Amino acid sequence: MQPILKLNNISYSYHSIHGEIPALDNISFDVLPGEFISLIGPSGCGKSTLLSIIARLETPEGGTISFYHPDGSIHYPRIGYMLQRDHLFEWRSVYKNVLLGLELNHKLTDENLEKADEMLRKYELYQFKDKKPSELSGGMRQRVALIRTLVLEPEILLLDEPFSALDYQTRLSVADDIYTIIKNEQKTALMVTHDLSEAISLGDRIIVLSERPATVQNIIPIKLSLEQKTPFTSRSAPEFKSYFNMLWKELHHE
Ligand code: ADP
Ligand code: MG
Repeated sequence: MQPILKLNNISYSYHSIHGEIPALDNISFDVLPGEFISLIGPSGCGKSTLLSIIARLETPEGGTISFYHPDGSIHYPRIGYMLQRDHLFEWRSVYKNVLLGLELNHKLTDENLEKADEMLRKYELYQFKDKKPSELSGGMRQRVALIRTLVLEPEILLLDEPFSALDYQTRLSVADDIYTIIKNEQKTALMVTHDLSEAISLGDRIIVLSERPATVQNIIPIKLSLEQKTPFTSRSAPEFKSYFNMLWKELHHE
Protein backbone atom coordinates (compact mmCIF):
# COMPACT_ATOMS: atom_id res chain seq x y z
CA MET A 1 0.00 0.00 0.00
CA GLN A 2 1.15 3.53 -0.82
CA PRO A 3 2.06 5.49 2.35
CA ILE A 4 0.16 8.69 3.11
CA LEU A 5 3.20 10.17 4.83
CA LYS A 6 6.91 9.53 4.50
CA LEU A 7 9.59 10.97 6.77
CA ASN A 8 13.09 10.66 5.45
CA ASN A 9 16.09 11.48 7.69
CA ILE A 10 14.38 14.35 9.49
CA SER A 11 16.58 16.38 11.81
CA TYR A 12 15.80 19.50 13.77
CA SER A 13 17.46 21.72 16.40
CA TYR A 14 16.24 24.61 18.50
CA HIS A 15 18.48 27.64 18.60
CA SER A 16 18.43 29.66 21.79
CA ILE A 17 20.73 32.17 23.48
CA HIS A 18 22.21 29.22 25.37
CA GLY A 19 23.16 27.52 22.16
CA GLU A 20 21.84 24.80 19.96
CA ILE A 21 19.50 22.11 21.28
CA PRO A 22 19.34 19.18 18.86
CA ALA A 23 15.85 17.69 19.13
CA LEU A 24 15.48 15.24 16.24
CA ASP A 25 18.18 13.20 14.55
CA ASN A 26 17.66 11.27 11.32
CA ILE A 27 14.05 10.28 11.87
CA SER A 28 12.64 8.07 9.11
CA PHE A 29 9.37 6.17 8.94
CA ASP A 30 6.29 5.75 6.75
CA VAL A 31 2.65 5.92 7.74
CA LEU A 32 -0.04 4.05 5.82
CA PRO A 33 -3.51 5.48 5.15
CA GLY A 34 -5.89 4.66 7.99
CA GLU A 35 -3.08 3.60 10.29
CA PHE A 36 -3.00 4.54 13.98
CA ILE A 37 0.57 5.21 15.10
CA SER A 38 1.52 5.56 18.76
CA LEU A 39 4.67 7.57 19.45
CA ILE A 40 6.44 7.00 22.73
CA GLY A 41 9.78 8.14 24.13
CA PRO A 42 11.38 9.73 27.18
CA SER A 43 10.06 13.08 28.38
CA GLY A 44 11.65 15.96 26.46
CA CYS A 45 13.03 13.72 23.70
CA GLY A 46 11.35 15.58 20.84
CA LYS A 47 7.90 14.00 20.39
CA SER A 48 5.96 17.26 20.24
CA THR A 49 8.64 18.73 17.98
CA LEU A 50 8.12 15.84 15.59
CA LEU A 51 4.37 16.47 15.47
CA SER A 52 4.98 20.19 14.76
CA ILE A 53 7.14 19.18 11.84
CA ILE A 54 4.50 16.81 10.48
CA ALA A 55 1.93 19.61 10.92
CA ARG A 56 4.33 21.84 8.95
CA LEU A 57 4.43 24.36 11.78
CA GLU A 58 8.23 23.90 11.82
CA THR A 59 10.54 23.23 8.92
CA PRO A 60 13.05 20.41 9.31
CA GLU A 61 16.74 21.34 9.11
CA GLY A 62 17.59 18.18 7.32
CA GLY A 63 15.66 15.48 5.53
CA THR A 64 12.36 15.49 3.73
CA ILE A 65 8.75 14.98 4.61
CA SER A 66 6.34 13.93 1.86
CA PHE A 67 2.61 13.46 1.78
CA TYR A 68 0.91 11.30 -0.83
CA HIS A 69 -2.50 11.04 -2.42
CA PRO A 70 -3.90 7.53 -2.85
CA ASP A 71 -2.87 7.77 -6.54
CA GLY A 72 0.75 8.32 -5.47
CA SER A 73 0.97 12.01 -6.36
CA ILE A 74 2.48 14.39 -3.82
CA HIS A 75 0.10 16.82 -2.14
CA TYR A 76 -0.34 18.83 1.07
CA PRO A 77 -3.06 17.24 3.14
CA ARG A 78 -5.30 18.91 5.67
CA ILE A 79 -3.97 18.19 9.12
CA GLY A 80 -5.94 18.20 12.37
CA TYR A 81 -4.23 18.75 15.71
CA MET A 82 -5.56 17.70 19.09
CA LEU A 83 -3.79 18.61 22.28
CA GLN A 84 -3.82 17.65 25.92
CA ARG A 85 -6.14 20.49 26.78
CA ASP A 86 -9.26 20.69 24.66
CA HIS A 87 -8.99 24.47 24.09
CA LEU A 88 -12.74 24.92 23.96
CA PHE A 89 -13.91 28.49 24.38
CA GLU A 90 -16.02 28.81 27.52
CA TRP A 91 -18.10 31.70 26.26
CA ARG A 92 -19.21 29.80 23.18
CA SER A 93 -21.80 27.03 23.19
CA VAL A 94 -20.78 23.48 22.28
CA TYR A 95 -22.27 24.05 18.84
CA LYS A 96 -20.41 27.34 18.32
CA ASN A 97 -17.20 25.63 19.42
CA VAL A 98 -17.71 22.85 16.88
CA LEU A 99 -18.25 25.45 14.15
CA LEU A 100 -15.21 27.53 15.11
CA GLY A 101 -12.78 25.98 12.65
CA LEU A 102 -15.30 26.18 9.81
CA GLU A 103 -15.93 29.82 10.68
CA LEU A 104 -12.22 30.70 10.71
CA ASN A 105 -11.73 28.94 7.39
CA HIS A 106 -14.81 30.58 5.81
CA LYS A 107 -16.38 27.18 5.30
CA LEU A 108 -19.77 27.60 6.96
CA THR A 109 -21.62 26.05 4.03
CA ASP A 110 -24.99 24.28 4.35
CA GLU A 111 -23.23 21.03 3.61
CA ASN A 112 -20.67 21.53 6.40
CA LEU A 113 -23.34 22.63 8.88
CA GLU A 114 -25.25 19.46 8.06
CA LYS A 115 -22.09 17.45 8.62
CA ALA A 116 -21.49 19.10 12.01
CA ASP A 117 -25.06 18.27 13.04
CA GLU A 118 -24.67 14.72 11.86
CA MET A 119 -21.46 14.19 13.84
CA LEU A 120 -22.94 15.72 16.98
CA ARG A 121 -25.88 13.33 16.64
CA LYS A 122 -23.78 10.31 15.82
CA TYR A 123 -21.45 10.86 18.76
CA GLU A 124 -24.23 11.67 21.22
CA LEU A 125 -23.59 15.34 21.77
CA TYR A 126 -26.50 16.85 19.90
CA GLN A 127 -28.66 17.33 22.97
CA PHE A 128 -25.81 19.27 24.59
CA LYS A 129 -25.20 21.58 21.65
CA ASP A 130 -26.52 24.70 23.39
CA LYS A 131 -24.62 24.05 26.62
CA LYS A 132 -21.40 25.76 27.58
CA PRO A 133 -18.24 23.57 27.72
CA SER A 134 -18.10 24.05 31.52
CA GLU A 135 -21.36 22.09 31.77
CA LEU A 136 -19.83 19.01 30.13
CA SER A 137 -17.65 16.22 31.54
CA GLY A 138 -13.96 16.07 30.58
CA GLY A 139 -14.67 13.19 28.23
CA MET A 140 -17.49 14.98 26.44
CA ARG A 141 -15.28 18.03 26.04
CA GLN A 142 -12.62 15.92 24.33
CA ARG A 143 -15.26 14.53 21.98
CA VAL A 144 -16.40 18.06 21.16
CA ALA A 145 -12.78 19.04 20.48
CA LEU A 146 -12.33 16.04 18.19
CA ILE A 147 -15.53 16.77 16.26
CA ARG A 148 -14.45 20.40 15.86
CA THR A 149 -11.28 19.06 14.25
CA LEU A 150 -13.05 16.41 12.15
CA VAL A 151 -15.61 18.72 10.54
CA LEU A 152 -12.66 20.31 8.74
CA GLU A 153 -12.07 16.89 7.19
CA PRO A 154 -8.40 16.47 8.04
CA GLU A 155 -6.64 13.65 6.24
CA ILE A 156 -4.15 13.20 9.06
CA LEU A 157 -4.83 13.67 12.77
CA LEU A 158 -2.09 14.52 15.23
CA LEU A 159 -2.83 13.90 18.89
CA ASP A 160 -0.38 15.13 21.52
CA GLU A 161 -1.06 13.34 24.81
CA PRO A 162 -4.79 13.87 24.24
CA PHE A 163 -5.99 12.10 27.38
CA SER A 164 -3.39 13.08 29.94
CA ALA A 165 -5.49 15.81 31.54
CA LEU A 166 -8.22 13.26 32.36
CA ASP A 167 -8.45 11.03 35.43
CA TYR A 168 -7.77 7.33 34.92
CA GLN A 169 -11.39 6.09 34.68
CA THR A 170 -12.45 8.84 32.31
CA ARG A 171 -9.33 8.30 30.30
CA LEU A 172 -10.16 4.69 29.50
CA SER A 173 -13.64 5.46 28.26
CA VAL A 174 -12.60 8.62 26.38
CA ALA A 175 -9.78 6.71 24.67
CA ASP A 176 -12.39 4.16 23.58
CA ASP A 177 -14.71 6.88 22.24
CA ILE A 178 -11.98 8.82 20.46
CA TYR A 179 -10.49 5.67 18.93
CA THR A 180 -13.91 4.53 17.69
CA ILE A 181 -14.59 7.92 16.11
CA ILE A 182 -11.18 8.02 14.40
CA LYS A 183 -11.57 4.49 13.02
CA ASN A 184 -15.20 5.11 11.98
CA GLU A 185 -14.16 8.19 10.06
CA GLN A 186 -11.23 6.23 8.57
CA LYS A 187 -8.63 8.78 9.59
CA THR A 188 -4.89 8.32 9.76
CA ALA A 189 -3.63 9.25 13.22
CA LEU A 190 -0.35 9.80 15.05
CA MET A 191 -0.67 9.96 18.80
CA VAL A 192 2.01 10.88 21.32
CA THR A 193 1.52 9.28 24.71
CA HIS A 194 3.65 8.46 27.72
CA ASP A 195 1.21 5.74 28.78
CA LEU A 196 2.50 2.39 27.50
CA SER A 197 -0.87 0.65 27.88
CA GLU A 198 -2.51 3.41 25.88
CA ALA A 199 0.14 3.13 23.18
CA ILE A 200 -0.50 -0.62 22.82
CA SER A 201 -4.26 -0.49 23.11
CA LEU A 202 -4.72 2.15 20.41
CA GLY A 203 -1.77 1.73 18.10
CA ASP A 204 -1.46 -0.42 14.99
CA ARG A 205 2.26 0.27 15.31
CA ILE A 206 4.34 1.85 18.02
CA ILE A 207 7.31 4.04 17.19
CA VAL A 208 9.76 4.18 20.07
CA LEU A 209 11.96 7.28 20.15
CA SER A 210 15.29 7.48 22.00
CA GLU A 211 16.51 10.14 24.43
CA ARG A 212 17.00 13.61 22.92
CA PRO A 213 17.95 14.14 20.17
CA ALA A 214 15.25 11.63 19.26
CA THR A 215 16.15 8.86 16.87
CA VAL A 216 13.86 5.99 15.90
CA GLN A 217 14.88 3.31 18.40
CA ASN A 218 12.35 0.71 17.32
CA ILE A 219 9.11 0.27 15.39
CA ILE A 220 6.81 -2.36 16.84
CA PRO A 221 3.72 -3.64 14.99
CA ILE A 222 0.96 -4.58 17.42
CA LYS A 223 -0.85 -7.81 16.62
CA LEU A 224 -3.52 -8.80 19.12
CA SER A 225 -5.77 -11.85 18.82
CA LEU A 226 -9.10 -10.13 19.13
CA GLU A 227 -12.36 -10.30 17.22
CA GLN A 228 -12.72 -6.57 17.36
CA LYS A 229 -10.03 -4.28 18.61
CA THR A 230 -10.99 -1.40 20.86
CA PRO A 231 -8.70 0.26 23.42
CA PHE A 232 -10.74 -1.47 26.11
CA THR A 233 -10.77 -5.01 24.70
CA SER A 234 -7.06 -4.74 23.75
CA ARG A 235 -6.14 -4.72 27.39
CA SER A 236 -7.40 -8.25 27.84
CA ALA A 237 -5.69 -9.68 24.74
CA PRO A 238 -3.25 -12.50 25.60
CA GLU A 239 -0.34 -10.66 23.94
CA PHE A 240 -0.89 -7.41 25.82
CA LYS A 241 1.44 -8.12 28.72
CA SER A 242 4.38 -9.17 26.61
CA TYR A 243 4.09 -5.99 24.51
CA PHE A 244 4.01 -4.02 27.73
CA ASN A 245 7.18 -5.70 28.98
CA MET A 246 8.87 -5.21 25.63
CA LEU A 247 8.13 -1.47 25.65
CA TRP A 248 9.17 -1.13 29.26
CA LYS A 249 12.54 -2.63 28.37
CA GLU A 250 12.83 -0.39 25.31
CA LEU A 251 12.39 2.70 27.47
CA HIS A 252 14.53 1.51 30.37
CA HIS A 253 17.33 -0.01 28.28
CA GLU A 254 17.16 -3.38 29.97
P1 ADP B 1 8.59 15.97 24.21
O1 ADP B 1 7.31 16.35 23.54
O2 ADP B 1 9.14 14.66 23.76
O3 ADP B 1 8.49 16.00 25.70
P2 ADP B 1 9.59 18.39 22.93
O4 ADP B 1 9.48 18.06 21.50
O5 ADP B 1 8.54 19.30 23.49
O6 ADP B 1 9.70 17.06 23.80
O7 ADP B 1 10.99 19.08 23.20
C1 ADP B 1 12.22 18.45 22.85
C2 ADP B 1 13.36 19.26 23.44
O8 ADP B 1 13.46 20.52 22.82
C3 ADP B 1 13.21 19.52 24.92
O9 ADP B 1 14.46 19.31 25.53
C4 ADP B 1 12.77 20.94 25.02
O10 ADP B 1 13.26 21.54 26.21
C5 ADP B 1 13.40 21.56 23.80
N1 ADP B 1 12.53 22.63 23.27
C6 ADP B 1 11.24 22.52 22.94
N2 ADP B 1 10.76 23.68 22.44
C7 ADP B 1 11.79 24.55 22.47
C8 ADP B 1 11.95 25.91 22.08
N3 ADP B 1 10.94 26.61 21.56
N4 ADP B 1 13.18 26.46 22.26
C9 ADP B 1 14.19 25.77 22.76
N5 ADP B 1 14.11 24.48 23.14
C10 ADP B 1 12.94 23.87 22.99
MG1 MG C 1 5.44 16.93 24.35
